[in-house]
Amino acid sequence: MGVLVVGAGISGVACARELASRGVDVRVLERAHSVGGRLGVHCRDGRPADIGAAYFTVDDDEFGARVRRWGAAGLARPWTDRLAVFTGTSPGEATEGPMRWAAAAGLRSLVADLADGLPVELGREVAAVGPGPVVDGERADAVVVAMPDPQAERLIEPGSPAAAAVAGRGWNPVLSLVAGYPARSWPDLPAAFVNDHPALSLLADDGLRRGDGAPVLVAHSTPGLARRHDADPRAAAPEMTAAVAELLDLDEPPEWTHVHRWRFAAPVGSRGDAFHLGDDGIALAGDGWGRSRVQTAYLSGVYLGRALAERFS
Ligand SMILES: Cc1cc2nc3c(=O)[nH]c(=O)nc-3n(C[C@H](O)[C@H](O)[C@H](O)COP(=O)(O)OP(=O)(O)OC[C@H]3O[C@@H](n4cnc5c(N)ncnc54)[C@H](O)[C@@H]3O)c2cc1C
Repeated sequence: MGVLVVGAGISGVACARELASRGVDVRVLERAHSVGGRLGVHCRDGRPADIGAAYFTVDDDEFGARVRRWGAAGLARPWTDRLAVFTGTSPGEATEGPMRWAAAAGLRSLVADLADGLPVELGREVAAVGPGPVVDGERADAVVVAMPDPQAERLIEPGSPAAAAVAGRGWNPVLSLVAGYPARSWPDLPAAFVNDHPALSLLADDGLRRGDGAPVLVAHSTPGLARRHDADPRAAAPEMTAAVAELLDLDEPPEWTHVHRWRFAAPVGSRGDAFHLGDDGIALAGDGWGRSRVQTAYLSGVYLGRALAERFS
């Protein structure tokens, strides 16, 4: 029967890769038509722009080893350790921090690399995970649900330890605006934290991030703005575009914009455990297990894969 992993974000794919590397039969079921989840891209004329995670950082040796492999393969690259800061609409002192990594083909390409050779079924929306465990009526030795808690809560039959673990946890939404301009007319950021602003929380120069210099900016909204425009995210474009223009003192409007809604972008608070693995064979992984970020999601999947493989051996 093997293991069924529901969700082909980085946590689900990392879990599946770990299981496969230890000889466990595994299949990944993903509702979207590509892997990556919140490491998403918006492609325009074949050019990807990151609309999910803006970058990732590394402070764990195991994730670091994976990132070095991506670096050696030309997939990931160190981007910047310096971010601009705005407080409200006023520019502040830039902040130095850990190296932020980016990917020339978009962060999704890293998940695609991780998924290479794994059986991933795309366009496969799972409706129910129940005791057995079963996934939409199919028996498995174990099921891994690798996604934000509210999405997992919809699938898992109430009454199991996994259902209790994901019940009622708050997650914040974010809208991502991608804006393409006729030319670059802003100072080198390359990215900026935007604090105490009613509309925006982060700005990134996607041309610098991608390394192609394209005049494309990506802005992340505040949760409040995302909630106001939940029913019609596209309607947030004028307000977000105006806020970007004000912060960067832009004269020209963008030639095109795209807005993506992440209804469950990040959990409120964090958990101590790296994953959940119940005696009933229903397991949970993702960035909800630890501090929400790419590294957390990756490690959650790897550690769960290892624990499951040990259970079967
Ligand atoms: C706007 C934004 C900005 C961010 N910025 C950063 C950052 O700068 N740095 C950082 O480290 N992290 C950042 N993050 C967080 C980072 O993206 C996540 O931590 C990570 O991508 C989570 O991966 P995951 O595998 O846990 O979940 P996801 O990527 O959400 O994967 C879950 C998958 O499950 C699938 N799925 C859901 N329901 C079903 C179903 N019923 N059937 C089948 N499949 C299903 C989804 O389609 C998705 O592919 C950001 C996230 C967002 C949204």
